[in-house]
Amino acid sequence: VNPAGDRAQSGVMAEPQWAYSGPEAKTESGAVQPFRQEILVEEIPQVIGQLKETYILCQTGDGLLVVDQHAAHERIVYEDLKKSYRNAHIESQSFLIPHKMELSQKEGRLVLKHLGRLAQMGLDLEHFGGNTFLLRSVPSIMVSANWDAFLRELIPFLEQEGTDLTNEKALDGLLTLMACHGAIRAGKRLSQDEMKRLLKQLQEVDLSTNCPHGRPVSNSFSFREFEKMFKRVI
Ligand SMILES: [Zn+2]
Repeated sequence: VNPAGDRAQSGVMAEPQWAYSGPEAKTESGAVQPFRQEILVEEIPQVIGQLKETYILCQTGDGLLVVDQHAAHERIVYEDLKKSYRNAHIESQSFLIPHKMELSQKEGRLVLKHLGRLAQMGLDLEHFGGNTFLLRSVPSIMVSANWDAFLRELIPFLEQEGTDLTNEKALDGLLTLMACHGAIRAGKRLSQDEMKRLLKQLQEVDLSTNCPHGRPVSNSFSFREFEKMFKRVI
């Protein structure tokens, strides 16, 4: 067996016995731990690849880490927006050609009422006349947003919640909505570098175990579980 086993390719091991190499060996006492989300912050996982353009698969010292790319990025975008909002500085990016939107009269009135608040959130909308609005700049971190889809959800949100951003619940709802649309989607193919960058950002963020809606960001499966699955151990 190659002693440089820590970088050995998993999946092509022919040996009947797998000798653990690493600190996890002494912690395994037979108890199966199906969920170990908290280990995510301890080490930089090695990216194996992307599953169904939705999940990032990583090898860690303990086993396999599966990260939901949308949930992970959603948390990253949310925390970034929240921090920037608190510091009253959301970094924004202008469109070369503003994104033009035709709204209904009712929607137009609603957006008009909230222009100032939306600007505070980094969403710079300009009333172009009638029920036409121009989206001029947006938070830089909302890289992947489909703006029409975002506004279709934003308008009912404004209608329902108002946007008294001193109200924590409304602020949180708005940030979550922005993060959801700003985050990369499931179904998007990511390069190895993009996956690595995402994991690194995730390690630097608070509450990295769950997305702002509460869904888990990652799940771990220990080598022990695999060994049991393949009857290497009883
Ligand atoms: Zn979510």
